[in-house]
Amino acid sequence: MHISLNPTYYCNFRCPFCYLGDMLLDKTTLSVDHVYEKLTEVLSHGYNIDSIDLYGGEILSLPKEYQSKIIEACLSFCSEVRVTTNLSLDYTELLKYPVQVCVSYDYTCREDHVQVLANMINFPADLHVLMLASKGLVKKNVENIIAVLNTVPNLKTVEIKPYSTNQYNQFDVKHSEFEEFVKKFILNKDKLEAHFVNEDMIQASLAGQMNSFSDDHVYITPNNKFAVLDFDDQDNEKFTELDNFQEYINWTQKEKFKVSANSYCNQCEYFGKCLSEHLRDVQSLEHSCNGYKLLLDWYKERA
Ligand code: SF4
Repeated sequence: MHISLNPTYYCNFRCPFCYLGDMLLDKTTLSVDHVYEKLTEVLSHGYNIDSIDLYGGEILSLPKEYQSKIIEACLSFCSEVRVTTNLSLDYTELLKYPVQVCVSYDYTCREDHVQVLANMINFPADLHVLMLASKGLVKKNVENIIAVLNTVPNLKTVEIKPYSTNQYNQFDVKHSEFEEFVKKFILNKDKLEAHFVNEDMIQASLAGQMNSFSDDHVYITPNNKFAVLDFDDQDNEKFTELDNFQEYINWTQKEKFKVSANSYCNQCEYFGKCLSEHLRDVQSLEHSCNGYKLLLDWYKERA
């Protein structure tokens, strides 16, 4: 089981495309005791904990003592712990632990990007970049982005994450725009000194090794709840909180039933193995889908 642990939604940034919207002001913080309790509940259902992604909100906005305690709690359950941060604040606590540090860095699209880039350049350990393909980012010149990424000496990997409309903002970024942006990185990958993760994901998907269902990935929220990323009636992304782990298992069964009833998905050669992080109800493939079918087709045809 992969765990996404949000100890807080509070963040020092107010990115207009963030899925947390007003919740970025919410200082509710999950207690470390509740972290142990929730992870123990996962184990009690017979699952292993394969990885933990610790993010927020902004984890570095929390007191250093808390940062230490929550990282230690995560490492006591699993050796693969990733911390996702905007890297705008003091990061020294992270350097004490064997965790993977991922920076949410979208070139010039986020506030304080000059300071964040300087922090990345000075960061004395391996770094990984997660770029959110927001409306602004997909219009930028990919070769210029790669040139800036190459100035970060310890940068090991780059991954582009798709933007999703959510309950706070609904920018029109078509699935096909995300696909075109990823294609440009693949076509320019020889210029990028870091490894491009999306291409690994495409290859894994084509080899049938991805799981696009939510049955191996659960969120834990600052409110001490399990949660899944879900969609509301307007097809906007939202967290659905669940009272216990059994409710999460029940939700994943309903998700499989729903996706299996979708006529695009149930006839798709990538069914269950596509690039979706959480499956939407596909209504048309005109601009592809959030499993990125047309990107998979493109890559397969090039092989
Ligand atoms: S690639 Fe698209 S159509 Fe195919 S299963 Fe995934 S979401 Fe459905």
